[in-house]
Amino acid sequence: MSRISGLISEQMSLQRKNRTLLAMISLVLGITMIAQAVLLAEVVQRIFVEKASFSSVITLLGLLLAVMVIRTLLFYSNGKVGLHMAARAKTNMRSAVLQSLIYTSMPSTLRGQTGGKVSIALDAVDEADQYFSQYMPRMMEAAMIPILILIVTFYLHSNTGWILLCTAPFIPLFMILVGLKTKNKSEEKYTQLAEFSGTFLDSLQGLVSLKIFGRANHQQQEIERSSLGYRDATMSILKIAFTNTFMLESIVMLSIGIVALELALQLLVFKSMAFHTAFLILLLIPEFYSLLKNTGTAFHSGRTSMGAICKVDQMLAESQITSELEDIGQSTSASNQQIMKSQHTSTTLDQSTPLSIELEDVHFHYGTDSFELQTGNISFQAGEHIAIVGKSGSGKTTLLHLIAGLLKPTSGEVLVNRKVLSESQQSAWFRQVSYITQHPYIFAGTIAENISIGAGRQVSTAEIEQAAEEAGLTVLIDQLQQGLETVIGDGGRGLSGGEKQRLALARAFLKRPTIILFDEPTVGLDLHTEQVLQRSIALLSQKATMITVAHRLYTIQDADQIVFMDHGAVVDTGRHDELIGRLPLYAEMVNVQQKGGIA
Ligand code: ADP
Repeated sequence: MSRISGLISEQMSLQRKNRTLLAMISLVLGITMIAQAVLLAEVVQRIFVEKASFSSVITLLGLLLAVMVIRTLLFYSNGKVGLHMAARAKTNMRSAVLQSLIYTSMPSTLRGQTGGKVSIALDAVDEADQYFSQYMPRMMEAAMIPILILIVTFYLHSNTGWILLCTAPFIPLFMILVGLKTKNKSEEKYTQLAEFSGTFLDSLQGLVSLKIFGRANHQQQEIERSSLGYRDATMSILKIAFTNTFMLESIVMLSIGIVALELALQLLVFKSMAFHTAFLILLLIPEFYSLLKNTGTAFHSGRTSMGAICKVDQMLAESQITSELEDIGQSTSASNQQIMKSQHTSTTLDQSTPLSIELEDVHFHYGTDSFELQTGNISFQAGEHIAIVGKSGSGKTTLLHLIAGLLKPTSGEVLVNRKVLSESQQSAWFRQVSYITQHPYIFAGTIAENISIGAGRQVSTAEIEQAAEEAGLTVLIDQLQQGLETVIGDGGRGLSGGEKQRLALARAFLKRPTIILFDEPTVGLDLHTEQVLQRSIALLSQKATMITVAHRLYTIQDADQIVFMDHGAVVDTGRHDELIGRLPLYAEMVNVQQKGGIA
């Protein structure tokens, strides 16, 4: 609850001007409502009681019309200001969600279901709309106008004033009771929606595997189950909303009935009241209750929005906790950093020459009781070609991610050119690195667009063609009717694994990195593709330090240095002939390789 008010009050303080505007409009709106009732009562009094001529009330009718127009305009402006506040709040919240996804570390961003995150970033933020566009303006009106009406009623006839004062609190009291229940239900609804979106997206992405393993039916049932869960959560909120409306209407009808009865007694039995006063009060009373009733409905949507905002807030809080935990992790390494500061000060990253990399007793774990990695002290000279080898699950990819800076060491340091990289150098570092994974991400767009993202700048078609040529993509592009403009990725033409890796290489050719991280394909490619890939990699790595998670014997044999990993530890480093002689585990692995297996 405190965090909810945190996010809302943050938006409120950002929108102080709009709130003042809302309050002022509401106050004037109240005055026009009372003025309208007074003028109408006066006209009716003159025409029907005093039997005045129509022409004598023309000015009053003109005034009445003007007040009605002003009232409509004010009501419209209140809505407009609310919408404006909602639009601003939504933009702020969405950018907060995006920032938290972008700036937290890679593992925490990838944690959880993608569909769930999308549903929070889009649907939950959209739901927050009602808090600002409905709840705020109605609450502001409810805080001002009924008090004005109450003062006027007390002035006109105190008995009615007392009746209003006694019956009115039932409405907010009832609203609070219902609202509290709605908020919990609304949070439940968002959990259900996030689960539904997540299950649906996961099923879509894994459709092929699901079909092959005969799990499509089971997954269909899963989708059905979570969609029914979402339906039930929505229906139970609607049920509360309808009951809420029914109860509110009943309270309002009853209260107006009591006031009308009292007025009738005063007017007809005791004859202690003028028609004009009674009629004016009768005009004002429904306005009074209708405002409170509207507030009830707005309160209901406000609570629903709060449930949604709470979900957004939770997501932001989680990423905050992760980043705080990372900070603690970093401060451990920061203390090491302090010790080393005398030896290593920040490096300057030079785009033109290859960089050296050192790992100083790097330790890493994904979480408590999970896989642990420790490197000891190893160094890679500038321009060297390194092969990381070891069994599947030994930590090769984790090591590559630590070198890339995608993961942060729990302790120890990764040094570049013998210096620690500072936070501010991160983007300069990423400009130097190309990471060619086994499954590069292909964005929905043309081949040209997909290649050009590698450059991080505007590039000409000639440059893209050159990069495609160097990466061995030209044969494929020539076969396609639309060539470089062929749409690939989500919804476009599919690419084979080898083609995707060549596309990633083309991106790297545009970038000309000084550090290449390469996850060599584990699957056997056809001879031609294999040759093209080898030639391109060799060309690209001429002026770079290259670190390969290697599975091919020739890559391993040709490496300047081999890092042999087992169960998360760097067991030994050295050249092929050195390791063959002194490391039986390595000799055994090479033996398996020679017989045609892969690491
Ligand atoms: P390799 O590349 O040698 O096959 P990895 O570095 O991918 O090995 O994985 C090493 C270990 O770390 C494995 O046991 C794997 O289950 C675990 N692991 C990998 N990624 C994560 C993650 N995001 N969270 C928790 N454990 C992970």
